[in-house]
Amino acid sequence: MDAEQKLELLADDARFESCDSFTPRKRKGKQTGPGITTTQGANGKPMALFRLLQSNSCEWDCPYCPLRRSNDIERATLEPEELSTLFMQRHEQGAVQGLFLSSAVAGGVRPAMGRMLDTVELLRVRYQYTGYVHLKLMPGARADEVERAAKLADRVSINLEAPNGDRMKQISPERGWSTVLEPMAYARDQQEAGELTSGQATQFVVGASGESDREIFDATTRMYREFKLRRVYFNAFRPQAGTPMAEHAATPFVRQQRLQEADWLLRHYGFKADELPFESGDNLPLQIDPKFAWALHHPEIFPIEVQTADREMLLRVPGIGPISVERILAMRRSAKFRELDHLRKLGVVVDKARHFLTLDGRFFGNDTTQVVARLRAKPIVEQLSLW
Ligand code: SF4
Repeated sequence: MDAEQKLELLADDARFESCDSFTPRKRKGKQTGPGITTTQGANGKPMALFRLLQSNSCEWDCPYCPLRRSNDIERATLEPEELSTLFMQRHEQGAVQGLFLSSAVAGGVRPAMGRMLDTVELLRVRYQYTGYVHLKLMPGARADEVERAAKLADRVSINLEAPNGDRMKQISPERGWSTVLEPMAYARDQQEAGELTSGQATQFVVGASGESDREIFDATTRMYREFKLRRVYFNAFRPQAGTPMAEHAATPFVRQQRLQEADWLLRHYGFKADELPFESGDNLPLQIDPKFAWALHHPEIFPIEVQTADREMLLRVPGIGPISVERILAMRRSAKFRELDHLRKLGVVVDKARHFLTLDGRFFGNDTTQVVARLRAKPIVEQLSLW
């Protein structure tokens, strides 16, 4: 197999071993060649990323993953010289601006980690490449490997996959809870020392180990607090043919969406994990977004008056985001809000917000129990058409 053929295979298999491995393909952006995906860069602008596995050979046997060692599939490994050449060709043509490199555990943790580090070192030293690199760390990566990764990459990530050690054993028995947390702690130390300008991230495979949303958020808040993670990604589990979990139920994509929304509340809206509106089974409601659900649980707070509420309370209103809050605060110094249209023009989703606020004393909403009944009666739309 030549390097281009390996690339075809390893770019396709990257969906099983990368930060949004189970995300519908259409959401990854426009692909213009094997491994080329469009993502959002640090400046918010689209960035073409070369995203692939260095190897799809794996010594581990995670029951949900088609790359597991027990599966009889076509295997390939790109050596550092090959991968760096493939990347630089595309970079020089202007087809890619960054690299997202991951790998299966090919030949063990040390060789797999070393191969990726050697590749990025070639890019940085031989080719003087200074652009964006996101490097996946192997569970069990040592402090010196993480230090080297932090000097070479802008961001590192390590897959947690499950929210605690017991859950992890079910879906990734060789991984081991501490083999993930230790490299995370090393990466945090590097970040605090001024390396890793884009920080570190992790991901969960949601629904693979029977975990609840509360367990996921217990782990998520710990990751943000102790390890200073920049992002946590949630990927709905999809059963893969030929694996021991092929018959396991798929996780509704809407659950992934609700987890992302709840994570957004923690990171941008000042919510604490214990405020999230978990229902029976310790899961978030699927029919209603978590901010809306939280507001419905707090009739003692709403409606609030837009003209006088403080920033914190405005942020709690469903349909009002951080940008709209700033616009409201700026506008109300010189004007009174009397109509929903005034809020609509500032970017507020008034169909949601109107049930929780008053404008100059007037309420434009409905009885929220009717709103809830209508929302709960709606079928949950599975976004499987994206697959
Ligand atoms: S470590 Fe597990 S999830 Fe990762 S490639 Fe190997 S079998 Fe798949």
